[in-house]
Amino acid sequence: MLCPLCNGLQQLNERCPLCGHELEDEGRTSDWSGPYAPYTPDAVPLESGLSSSEAVCTHIAYCASCDYWCELSIATEATFR
Ligand SMILES: [Zn+2]
Ligand SMILES: [Zn+2]
Repeated sequence: MLCPLCNGLQQLNERCPLCGHELEDEGRTSDWSGPYAPYTPDAVPLESGLSSSEAVCTHIAYCASCDYWCELSIATEATFR
């Protein structure tokens, strides 16, 4: 499956639920498994309406305005067909 964000085909188009600032894509959650990852599982994932982990690429999103971290489920190309 092809994630449009991972492949640079699409910009992250989500806004911070707290302040409305544009969220920055910080990469896939699988890339944040190291001991220095600032992300903690305590953050509440955004509901995107996508439930299947097979069809999404989970990214970490960061709001530079209010220092908010969250997970975003990005639909992969397979779901567009
Ligand atoms: Zn991705
Ligand atoms: Zn914010």
